[in-house]
Amino acid sequence: MMDTRQVIEEYLSSDDFRLALSPPESEPLRQYYFIGLLRRWVHTREEALGRSLYACTNTFGCQMNARDSEKMEGVLTAAGFVPTEKEEEVDLIIYNTCTVRENANTRVYGRLGYLNSLKKKHPDLLIALCGCMMQEAHVVEKIRKSYRFVDIVFGTHNVHKFAELIWERISGGCMVVDIWDRADRIVEDLPASRKYFFKSGVNISFGCNNFCSYCIVPYVRGRERSRAPEDILAEVRRLASDGVVEIMLLGQNVNSYGKDLAEPMSFAELLRRVSEVEGIERIRFMTSHPKDLSQELIDAMAALPKVCRHLHLPVQSGSSRILEKMNRRYTKEQYLDLVHRLKAAVPDISLTTDIIVGFPGETEEDFLETMDVVRQVCYDSCYTFIYSKRTGTPAASMPDQVPEDVIKDRFDRLLALVGECSAKRTAMHLGETVPVLVEEVNDHDSHMVTGRMDNNLLVHFPAGSRLIGQIVPVRLTECRGFYYIGELVLEK
Ligand code: SF4
Repeated sequence: MMDTRQVIEEYLSSDDFRLALSPPESEPLRQYYFIGLLRRWVHTREEALGRSLYACTNTFGCQMNARDSEKMEGVLTAAGFVPTEKEEEVDLIIYNTCTVRENANTRVYGRLGYLNSLKKKHPDLLIALCGCMMQEAHVVEKIRKSYRFVDIVFGTHNVHKFAELIWERISGGCMVVDIWDRADRIVEDLPASRKYFFKSGVNISFGCNNFCSYCIVPYVRGRERSRAPEDILAEVRRLASDGVVEIMLLGQNVNSYGKDLAEPMSFAELLRRVSEVEGIERIRFMTSHPKDLSQELIDAMAALPKVCRHLHLPVQSGSSRILEKMNRRYTKEQYLDLVHRLKAAVPDISLTTDIIVGFPGETEEDFLETMDVVRQVCYDSCYTFIYSKRTGTPAASMPDQVPEDVIKDRFDRLLALVGECSAKRTAMHLGETVPVLVEEVNDHDSHMVTGRMDNNLLVHFPAGSRLIGQIVPVRLTECRGFYYIGELVLEK
């Protein structure tokens, strides 16, 4: 089975490419064509400069963005750029932006000033902006008017066109802006790099149909589109043959996977099929929406040993009144019933969640409902957020915005309770011997390595870097609040 890189090499050394007078229409061949043109350009520049050309991909936001960045880095590497993290030494820099909260936009505008100073020193520097923030029309207008030094602007629906857009900028000489208001296809078989050789994210769907009233994602990522199961399985097999042992199935709402396919397939069925791929030892997935979490999925999690005993299940609020205003389409009782069924089927399951404090109209009673859910579920950890008004979402124009001091007080009380639960849950594993996927050499002590348990808990233990990428048995000897110190259990 040829991997994408080999397919590209074969095409670029063919007459089809060498003699082509215009770009092919079909994808991904069209992008292979532009990768070929870029590669010639990079080569010419390298000869002129007497050095390699460097590219830096800077990612903001979620794992969906991180996976898109790996795809863009794959295209840049195939075109001959050398990836680097040093922004000040690059020839091309791309910011993959997030817009889920107001401060995400502010951070990007702040960084653009710095990029402008880099460009003044290095006029040939190419600056590209993409991601969710660029799907907002007012942002693109602002970039066109006030940040004219930016070279390429594109969105979330045409990431696959990255090579073509760079070529358009290089050959056209002026700012390229290409924002699609919706995606018309899922382009497969484009090159992608990977941050870790032993684990990888795998997109299973794009977009979201839920329109939670505070969330901008459906407006910037479009409607739900599921990848064909055979394309997902082919990618998982390729990754397994490339040494990957852990995959994270990614989607804004993985639980509704497959409903839009010509031949619908449930997420639970997809999990079963992915579990059959040899070489893959651990399967994780995010993000789940409680309204679509089926008993079939719960049973699959219990029955499939490769599926990790961890589920991220955002509750957002414990008050059914607020959940209705959020358009989450489940009640406190329904959520707790789900948790009850999950714990019955997978007794050692680790549950984590997202909670928003200060949603418009939230009363002290509503907040106490949230505290009650946290106490009842006793999460291993929680991502807690202060409500952030997003222009264009229904919640932004809702009355009764909660005063900051009230939000601050509630946030502090919630953090204290979450910390208590998390410490209690973490301490439960003391003395156990557990399988740990070794991920890296410890940042603070090079004689130690750091890895993750199946429930995502961090473990540090004395061992060499040769274990990175392997799942090894570790005895948990000391609990340090939210992580463990352990010792490697040597096979007899
Ligand atoms: S499920 Fe709700 S919160 Fe999650 S991405 Fe979709 S609209 Fe946003």
